[in-house]
Amino acid sequence: MNILKYMQQFDYEQLLFCNDSGVGLKALICIHDTTLGPALGGVRMRNYPSEEDAVMDALRLGRAMTYKAAASGLDLGGGKAVVIGDPLKDKTEALFKALGRHVASLGGRYIATEDVGTTTRDMEYLRTQTPFVVGLPEYMNGSGDPSPATAFGVMKAMEACCKATYGSSNLKNRTIAIQGAGKVGSHLARLLNGAGAKLLITDINKTSLRQVVKETGATALLPEDILKTECDILSPCAFGGILDSSSIASLRCKIIVGAANNQLKEADHGEEIHKKGILYCPDYIANAGGIINLSLELTGYDAAAVRFKLEGIYTTTEQVIKNAEKGNISTSRAADNLAEDRLRQSKIVKNIFFNPLTAKHL
Ligand code: NAD
Repeated sequence: MNILKYMQQFDYEQLLFCNDSGVGLKALICIHDTTLGPALGGVRMRNYPSEEDAVMDALRLGRAMTYKAAASGLDLGGGKAVVIGDPLKDKTEALFKALGRHVASLGGRYIATEDVGTTTRDMEYLRTQTPFVVGLPEYMNGSGDPSPATAFGVMKAMEACCKATYGSSNLKNRTIAIQGAGKVGSHLARLLNGAGAKLLITDINKTSLRQVVKETGATALLPEDILKTECDILSPCAFGGILDSSSIASLRCKIIVGAANNQLKEADHGEEIHKKGILYCPDYIANAGGIINLSLELTGYDAAAVRFKLEGIYTTTEQVIKNAEKGNISTSRAADNLAEDRLRQSKIVKNIFFNPLTAKHL
């Protein structure tokens, strides 16, 4: 693998290899683009099959964060950290403190938060070494669990998609199939139940599933049936890579809006969904509630401001749909264009003096 060639192709700024032999830290911090602000992204911990897999994960996820922040109108860049190791066996306080020092060495160019395999407790260890951490617990003036904000944002995106498809944003009596009754899926089910939607839901975890069914009156489906069930909206809220040629062929929904990251197996699958006449809300538009919630921790967390910003996901989704219709392109392409246009325009703003406001996060 030619890492630098790949970085050149997609315009990456930096990839930091972090080692601390004493505590067994092997990690990477990717900073894709800081045009709009410091690179914010989660710290993922995973037992990667190879170092190459870890490098590619850091690079791909870091770039995806740039697009998510840019399309959501946030003053943030994109980055990601990956720690190589088993989160169930290899985690220690010292390991995260060591990573915290590497984050500190970047002087605010990268801001860490929790991700798959890490917890708010791990972020507390990072915070002992660097102020550049968000997603801290509420007792540390952090924003706490982002899942309710993510779920609310997904619902706003659903409303915008319903307006475009049915002429009304009202979710009452819409049949919505949710894949995953985890943190986001369960919050979403409660919100949608409150909005009068008819819910179908699945999870491989029977306890979580039973709990949501009990609370919302949703109908439980088998995990293998959810993607092919007939519904108005399919909401992937479990894991990524679920939309490929085979699953797309069996879809019987009108709209797809969910929280899961990287729902399309490959970028081309966005075109396939478009050709099938299904309205797909790009994942990073629909699930931006999490990062919006975190971003407000940087400027002083305020619940009213979060709510106001989350409402904006409706407008962003509407804009993506309109741009796609106007350009006769898929919504996934239209979302990428939105992010790329904002980055391009910000890059050409002439730097005529040092503006302390642009350094507000530092
Ligand atoms: P979670 O782990 O709490 O929930 C995921 C659920 O999916 C679990 O209950 C799991 O049992 C279930 N699941 C796994 N495999 C399944 C299968 N084959 N069929 C049905 N269910 C299955 O995670 P979460 O925080 O709710 O996040 C869900 C997705 O949304 C993830 O892809 C995550 O990256 C993304 N996301 C989450 C947030 C957030 O704020 N939590 C923000 C942005 C994106």
